[in-house]
Amino acid sequence: MDPAIIPKPRSLVTHTGSIPVRPILRPADAPVEAAAALRALEPAIGEENSVGLSLEFLRGQCDPESYRLVIGHDGVRLYAGDEPGFFYAAQTLRQLLFAAARAGSGLPLLEIEDSPRFSYRGFMFDSCRHFFGIDEVKRLVDLAAAHKLNVFHWHLTEDQGWRIESLLYPRLTELGSRRGETRGDGIPHGGFYSRDDVREVVAYAAERRIEVIPEFDLPGHVTAALAAYPQLGCTGGPYEVATRFGIWEDILCAGNDDVLEFLRGVLGEICELFPGRYVHIGGDEAPKARWRECPRCQARIRDENLAGEEDLQAWLMNRAAEIVESHGKTAIAWNDGISSDHLASGIVQQFWMERGEAPRAAREANGGRRTIVSDYYHYYLDYPYGMTSLAKTYGYDPVFEGLERPESILGVEAPLWTEYVADRESIDRQVFPRLTAMAETGWSGPHASAYADFRRRLSHFYPYLESMGASPEALGKVDPGPLAGRWQVARFWGRAVDRKMIATLWKMATGRH
Ligand SMILES: [Zn+2]
Repeated sequence: MDPAIIPKPRSLVTHTGSIPVRPILRPADAPVEAAAALRALEPAIGEENSVGLSLEFLRGQCDPESYRLVIGHDGVRLYAGDEPGFFYAAQTLRQLLFAAARAGSGLPLLEIEDSPRFSYRGFMFDSCRHFFGIDEVKRLVDLAAAHKLNVFHWHLTEDQGWRIESLLYPRLTELGSRRGETRGDGIPHGGFYSRDDVREVVAYAAERRIEVIPEFDLPGHVTAALAAYPQLGCTGGPYEVATRFGIWEDILCAGNDDVLEFLRGVLGEICELFPGRYVHIGGDEAPKARWRECPRCQARIRDENLAGEEDLQAWLMNRAAEIVESHGKTAIAWNDGISSDHLASGIVQQFWMERGEAPRAAREANGGRRTIVSDYYHYYLDYPYGMTSLAKTYGYDPVFEGLERPESILGVEAPLWTEYVADRESIDRQVFPRLTAMAETGWSGPHASAYADFRRRLSHFYPYLESMGASPEALGKVDPGPLAGRWQVARFWGRAVDRKMIATLWKMATGRH
């Protein structure tokens, strides 16, 4: 039986025999690109002058994320072209060392050649619906790195709380980071990340080859910002930080030049704090009722010769994207924010759901728009297993229906929205092992016909996850039968009546999935 490595390597050849596991020895002449890999292996590295296993890092010519791992009688060799490849080789070696130590066996003799299918492999965490401190954020970054993911998408602004400190707009956190209660529980809830917190998380992630992508969701999902600066809304308020979940009609006023200045200021601060290539500008679930009645928004539509409110959203998103670009970065937006033909072509779409019958996301991707796949029906980690079982997540091919240009797909990302996730136990139960399944798809999958093999490897991966402090959902519960599944869906439905759920249940009822 092959060693149980997750994500499954592209090519794995085993040879008969093994070598005894001893501390591995710090190589005398590791290239600088191997520094992060060495730190990841630190716990397995022996004392000086001890007898151990020889470890060599060798630079080769290959893609930055690919690597080769050879375990022979004379020791362990890691080949890579650059830092990420060495880091991923170290992640694979960590799994093998852990399995050998646990089984009391040796390291199997083998050769692995490995490289990812997609260059973008992400996990999204919503720190707004419930706030979690940076220790929890760092723990999740660590776990993402163990899955060879390279993006941590951090959802930092919402109706229910603004979570990132701004020097230019201090009331965003003074007022916007706290809500009076959550769904009538009478318990105040709040918190935010200081600029130093953000720098700490970004550095921690970079050490693990993970880019942190901040999200400032606009023009909707901004009630917390409006509570702090009511003049940025169409009606002028007053507004309160939302204490319930759903979609709110008050959004940023697209006709107000102060809003453009606000975007320049806040996005500028965000771009300065996050050194990565991307900034997420949201765009989802922005009702247009206020814009239809707002004289300033209507004046903007006339002055800019726009066709209507959907065009106005594209106009505002384009302004936000230009700000991001002026800082040398690329904007990402949720695909339902693309309801006009005038959205700038450079904005990356994050495909989460299709509206109506017209497959707009596919059309956009076929037209060349770069796309991240987060199909809510397969990759939303907040849904119960009765709706999104592990088998369903694992079997999903991100090169989705209607797609003619698969090269538009940058990669995959699974989001955890935290409306009903308030503690670490719930995070872990929802995220693992479905994120593990998506990670394998992003790296080498899909292996849809090999689900049984994935479950076999997963049973070995569980103790590894647990050794990193994670408590995944029990394997016996991740593929519930129809009865248990329906019960879970009904319970979830009972507390989460929103548009996503209505769409989901409609799809389930009509068999359109
Ligand atoms: Zn307005």
